[in-house]
Amino acid sequence: MPAPSQSVRPAETQAQSKAPAAELSACLRLLKERGVDYAPLAKDDDAGACAVEEPVSFKGVRLEGGKLIPLDAPVTLSCNFAADLALWIRDDLAPATQRHGLTLRGLSGVGGHACRNRNRQIVGPVSEHATGNAFDVRRLVIDGAAPIDIMGDRADKTRALREEIRAGACARFSTVLGSDSDAFHEDHLHVDGRVRRGGFRLCQWNVR
Ligand SMILES: [Zn+2]
Repeated sequence: MPAPSQSVRPAETQAQSKAPAAELSACLRLLKERGVDYAPLAKDDDAGACAVEEPVSFKGVRLEGGKLIPLDAPVTLSCNFAADLALWIRDDLAPATQRHGLTLRGLSGVGGHACRNRNRQIVGPVSEHATGNAFDVRRLVIDGAAPIDIMGDRADKTRALREEIRAGACARFSTVLGSDSDAFHEDHLHVDGRVRRGGFRLCQWNVR
């Protein structure tokens, strides 16, 4: 006898696959609106100080015209921070690069969630990376040209662009650490959304 469940199963599957889409949180909807290429992740309730609120795997951002700016590896971020990061890439990095006659193709040398203390020390405060509230990036990948090493590049021809990136990052994120902040940030840019008393912000990056 044919199994009657065969005619039922597709409908069930359809209902199941529709349910999560209808229940997207406000934050996940925002990621969609902002063109983020992401996958939702399950929250790890046993992670303690390293738990990420509404974690997502962040793979890249689509620009207004639909072009994807991918990361060289997906990073885990809290949804709220991912929403901020998307705007930085879409509205600051891509247009700034364009204004300087270059086309942004991606970001490389990236980092996101990592369960650790600040600056990888054994003791001390927990890093914003531990809660998925921070992002590291080393290079801008450029169409038809060498990548720009954000901290290592000291070329005159990219200085104005790097200055612009610094200004944008410091306006958007409450913490920006780059070269000259400390030895840990000589080779990459760190941005995070740390909330400090009195709205205090840290912008430590001397563009050279
Ligand atoms: Zn970092």
